[in-house]
Amino acid sequence: MRKTLVAGNWKMNNGPAAAVKLAREVRDGLRAVDLRGQALICPPCVSLPAVREIVAGSPLLLGAQNCAAAASGAHTGEVAAGMLAEAGCSHVIIAHSERRQHQRETDAEFVAKIDAAHAAGLTAIFCFGELLGERRAGQAQTVVRTQLEGVLPHVKRLSPANTVLAYEPVWAIGTGETATPEVAQEMHAFARAALAELAGREAAAAMRLLYGGSVKASNAGDLFAQPDIDGGLVGGASLQAAEFIGIVRAARDARA
Ligand code: PEP
Repeated sequence: MRKTLVAGNWKMNNGPAAAVKLAREVRDGLRAVDLRGQALICPPCVSLPAVREIVAGSPLLLGAQNCAAAASGAHTGEVAAGMLAEAGCSHVIIAHSERRQHQRETDAEFVAKIDAAHAAGLTAIFCFGELLGERRAGQAQTVVRTQLEGVLPHVKRLSPANTVLAYEPVWAIGTGETATPEVAQEMHAFARAALAELAGREAAAAMRLLYGGSVKASNAGDLFAQPDIDGGLVGGASLQAAEFIGIVRAARDARA
C-alpha cells in the first residue's frame, strides 16, 4: 500500500521567528498522532535552519518550495538542491502553479530541477494541473497529459522513491473552491494511467499522487478516501497548526 504524504507549503509566509513558533505547534500537535504516513512542512528558505532545529528528532519532515536547476555557480538569488539537502530538507516542491504563472518556468527547467533534486538525494514533488478556463473548455485531461508528458519521460532517474506527483487544479488553489472527491479521483486515475504509459505500470502503481487545492481538515477525509489520492499538498491550511494536524489525521485514518 502507498504511504500517504501531507505536505504543507507555507509559501512566502513565516520568517524564522514565526516559523519556529508554527513548526513547534505542528511538531507538538503531531506527538499525539500515530503517524502511518509522512508529514512534511516547507517553510521559506530563510527559515529552514531555524525550523530544522525544531523538527530534529521528530517524525516531521522538512522540505523546500523550489530549487535551482544548477548545482552551484553564478546564479544570483538561487538556492541549489544540494544546499537544501545540507540544510536538512528531504523534499522539494517543483513546478508549483505560482511558479509556472509568475516565474514562467518551463518544462525544460522542471526536468533540470527534478534531476538536480534527485542528484542531491531529495524527493521531488512535481505539481501539475489545469486552469479554470481549460477545465471549462473540456481540456483538463489534455492539459494534464501534456504537463506530465513534457517532463516525466525526460527525468533521468524517475522512481516512486524519489518523486511524488501533486495534482493541483489551479482554480482550486487558494480560492476556497475544492475539487469534489469524485472530480479529484477522476483526474488522479487519469494521471496514474498516463504515468503507467510514460513510466511503466509498476512505477505508476507505486508512485504517490497528492491532491492540492483548498484542502482543509473538514474536507481532507473525503478526498483521501479516494483510491488514487495518497495525501495532500496544502497551502493556506498548513499555516494553522490545528488545521494541518487535522489533515494529517485524515490521511492516517484513510489508510488505517
Ligand atoms: C498550494 O499552494 O499548493 C495549495 C494547494 O494552496 P491552498 O491549499 O491554499 O489551496
